Amino acid sequence: MKTRIGEVFSSIQGEGKLLGRRQIFIRFSGCNLNCNYCDTPDSRNPEYGKYLSVDELAKEVNSLITPDFHSLSLTGGEPLLHADFIGEFLANNPIDALIETNGSLPDELHKILDLIKFASVDIKLPEHDADSDWDILVENELKSINVLMDEGINTYCKLVVLPSTKVDTVVFIASKIAQEIQNARKLSLIIQPVSPLNIWGKNSDKLLEISELTGKYLDVLTIPQIHKILKIR
Ligand code: SF4
Repeated sequence: MKTRIGEVFSSIQGEGKLLGRRQIFIRFSGCNLNCNYCDTPDSRNPEYGKYLSVDELAKEVNSLITPDFHSLSLTGGEPLLHADFIGEFLANNPIDALIETNGSLPDELHKILDLIKFASVDIKLPEHDADSDWDILVENELKSINVLMDEGINTYCKLVVLPSTKVDTVVFIASKIAQEIQNARKLSLIIQPVSPLNIWGKNSDKLLEISELTGKYLDVLTIPQIHKILKIR
């Protein structure tokens, strides 16, 4: 089996709960969403990158392993558009892996559930992707989180906020997650202020307000994209 992969590289995880971990990033091509803050627009193109077989990818990954290696990051684009390939790759190459998904394809998760160790699920707000039906998208994100947590996979969710984001909207979604996710208190919500950080100005106080109000419902961490501050990939 072959699939289209944009890039394979080693770097330091700059987002979420595996922040600071050395990972090998496998960036799969194509995405089914169109977020206005997308920082990997090239990867949305399904023609981006080159076709790699499972064995060719394993060779690239093995050539990049360093002593501090922690895990793979399966990212995109939307990696679950390649769930069959990921399933075959991890079955043949059992390596700890994080899936970084937009959460819109819960049914695809079943193809890799017993093969992944960590999961990051995006929570989108209505203004993030005007092309999508937000109600359906949120239902799928919640379904994805429940599927992952039921399987015992170390899961967190990530919500990108912009200076223009309404606090009420973020609090509403945090309360919805708390209502609809079993064991929601075990789930961390990462509030990720959009980069670059210099656009925040006086709006940084909003991050404290969001943290306090969402903290009523979930374990909340506010973490910017560290790799951009470090100026690494
Ligand atoms: S889901 Fe991710 S890759 Fe797809 S458009 Fe949104 S930010 Fe970009």
